[in-house]
Amino acid sequence: MAVRAIRCGTLFDGTGAEPVRNAVVVVSDGRIASVSTTVPAGAETLDLGDRFVMPGLIDCHSHASIVPGLGDQVGQLCRGPVPQALAATRNLRQDLAAGTTTMRIMGEEHFVDVELRDAIEAGTITGPRLLIAGRGLAANNGHGRALASYDGVDEVRRGARENLRRGANHVKIFVTGGVSSPGTTPTSSAYTREEIRAAVEEADRAGTYAAAHAHGGPGLRLAVQEGVGTIEHAALADDEDIALMIERRVWLICTFAIFMHPNGIEQGDGQRPAIMDKMRWARRVVAETFPRHLASGVRFACGTDSVHGAMPFELQTLVRLGVSPREALLAGTRRGAEACRVDKDVGTLEPGKRADLIAIDGDPLKDMAAMERVSLVMKDGVTCGREER
Ligand SMILES: [Zn+2]
Repeated sequence: MAVRAIRCGTLFDGTGAEPVRNAVVVVSDGRIASVSTTVPAGAETLDLGDRFVMPGLIDCHSHASIVPGLGDQVGQLCRGPVPQALAATRNLRQDLAAGTTTMRIMGEEHFVDVELRDAIEAGTITGPRLLIAGRGLAANNGHGRALASYDGVDEVRRGARENLRRGANHVKIFVTGGVSSPGTTPTSSAYTREEIRAAVEEADRAGTYAAAHAHGGPGLRLAVQEGVGTIEHAALADDEDIALMIERRVWLICTFAIFMHPNGIEQGDGQRPAIMDKMRWARRVVAETFPRHLASGVRFACGTDSVHGAMPFELQTLVRLGVSPREALLAGTRRGAEACRVDKDVGTLEPGKRADLIAIDGDPLKDMAAMERVSLVMKDGVTCGREER
């Protein structure tokens, strides 16, 4: 691949440094060769001199095959592999077009995420680079249970090991109940301490980590005490829960779109009172507690939880909840990469990293709504056209 110099109107490199005007990012073989202010002789130039350029977004929590607006998310996971793969093909294209270049998948059936990850890598389909979990580990009576459940320490171990054998990048365990399923409590644990520990141990032995679905309370604390790396959602977390996460250096993965965006649970399950009551509860608690949580020093990043293309909404929500625009952009880039443990490779625009970047019409540091205007997406140095959102 030829050497390409990208002229950037404003460059936000994701390191935390001040934005630079008229920077030049040089890309060679899909990686960043240098960041300076001069175009090297003989380099082909891509002129983004009127745009705000930043690292591609990292969506830390999604499901490729689900569209929440269609309702009954678990039912969607129970479909056959072909309809799921077809839905995912469309969904992932939408995510990439909205600026997500890396996405962590948090549970699929039939190991469709393995196939999707490989198909994207091979260039067969278009989408963000995927980090995958394989099947989410869920208890028989727990939230997130689709086709398979894992009960008891031995089954949890077997489930984790099977996912890892198939090439999972991390282990996902559903600890507490959820918002989008009726009849589960979002703060108590479906799993025992020993079962959670087994998932953490198996991930650890394979050189990775476990991520726990947990909204708050005793279930969340159990997961943190047993050593998970990330807590997903935490919508009902209280100050004590957050304090424990800070102490154990556990990441908070915020997922606002799924219960706040009109295309989220509301669109799909708006007619189900048992779900809508929980959703309104979560919205109320988040509005009240998250300005405090996000200022507490807890490490946080975000995910869309299948509201495809909604990373800009996540970042706008962070700002609405009191986070500075600069910190919101870092949450969507560098911190996401750190939470997903891929920060050696992506998350900032520095020499040696993958050439994953996006160009925006406008300045999100002045108005986060500009994130809705992603006009160019580059992944591994290859430009992906703007597609339907
Ligand atoms: Zn999820």
